[in-house]
Amino acid sequence: MTDTLTHSPEAGSGAGAPLEKTALETYVPLAKPSLVGLSRAEISDALGAIGVQPAQRKMRVQQLWHWIYVRGAQNFADMTSISKDMRAQLETHFTVARPEVVAEQISNDGTRKWLLRLPSGDSIEKAHEVECVYIPETDRGTLCVSSQVGCTLTCSFCHTGTQRLVRNLTAGEIVGQIMVARDRLNDWADRETPTGSRLVTNVVMMGMGEPLYNFEAVRDALLIVSDNEGIGISRRRITLSTSGVVPNIARTGDEIGVMLAISLHAVRDELRDELVPLNRKYPIAELLQACRDYPGSSNARRITFEYVMLKGVNDSLDDAKLLVKMLKGIHAKINLIPFNLWPGTRYECSDWDQIEKFSEYIFNAGYSSPVRTPRGRDILAACGQLKSETEKLSARERQALRAMAMTD
Ligand code: SAH
Ligand code: SF4
Repeated sequence: MTDTLTHSPEAGSGAGAPLEKTALETYVPLAKPSLVGLSRAEISDALGAIGVQPAQRKMRVQQLWHWIYVRGAQNFADMTSISKDMRAQLETHFTVARPEVVAEQISNDGTRKWLLRLPSGDSIEKAHEVECVYIPETDRGTLCVSSQVGCTLTCSFCHTGTQRLVRNLTAGEIVGQIMVARDRLNDWADRETPTGSRLVTNVVMMGMGEPLYNFEAVRDALLIVSDNEGIGISRRRITLSTSGVVPNIARTGDEIGVMLAISLHAVRDELRDELVPLNRKYPIAELLQACRDYPGSSNARRITFEYVMLKGVNDSLDDAKLLVKMLKGIHAKINLIPFNLWPGTRYECSDWDQIEKFSEYIFNAGYSSPVRTPRGRDILAACGQLKSETEKLSARERQALRAMAMTD
């Protein structure tokens, strides 16, 4: 990939859609960088660069880590266990900034969506935007996190795939989304609740972007999120969803150790080539082999196969039969996702009847097959509806889009 943008106007539409539509924009580091997203070793180096003595660094790193990731401190002044001089020195050179909240929407089902601005060092016009969604349930609270602004891939049923501008997020911008959610929900360690339990308990890398096309930043971020002296969300409560970047699947197990979800969506290569064009590079057989080999998968740690229900396209009982057959030998569960509409799409969601039949067939074959309940449709926060450029639509266009998204 290069730094030059090569947009294709018909990106994301049709079987002939290019595999990738655009090259990446660059991130320009900020003049005063945030410590959020740095590993302990990187914080230590940053302290060294401003003259902190080697003998002091380990202790300072520990203090900063605690203030940033356990207490959620938003500035150095609040870090009262650190000496005043040291705090002033830190303030001169660094921040603990996270992405800025541009808009917050709350759905009538309690789902919250934040539009976040990501400052970049070049100019304010270059500040990109990304979306992040919090989904409360009775037994958990899941945060759906983005890994890229837009997506270079061109899955034909996905709204994010039609967004032209694409930039990889930094590790800090990824961790920052969880921090913003904890800030907004008042969900840090000193939150006063009778039980003391957290609101954000699970993380899914299912927002905008393909996480395995931004592997290093996603890995570094998730290692911080799962660090039990900090944010402390266990790896079993973090799920990374990929459209099938085969070479990085084993690395995900080895280097991050989180739960894996695969956007399968079709059981024949011919159809998957059209729905998920990346299939032309990594066809189904290779993808499934990578799943069989996934480090750490077991009956207790099953791989989720996501399957979007598209009317008359991939929802026949023959598809269900083939699906069951091809998952043999893989510790799998299947998540059926009702298709969420967006303007300009040529797909429709399968009829409810058909979704039930499909699900029943899979269930009878011995697989768990829950149908994902669409959440936050009224604020365009459901799967595949995220597209930060949406905010630039007129009020009337947005209203039409919302009405469409609410139709079953
Ligand atoms: N890029 C990654 C993760 C983000 S998408 C991936 O593709 O896996 C999260 C999930 O939403 C994926 O399974 C994706 O295929 C699905 N999705 C995309 N558009 C959708 C839509 N319009 N309706 C329902 N699900 C959709
Ligand atoms: Fe990208 Fe995932 Fe959407 Fe495909 S489904 S375009 S990989 S975000």
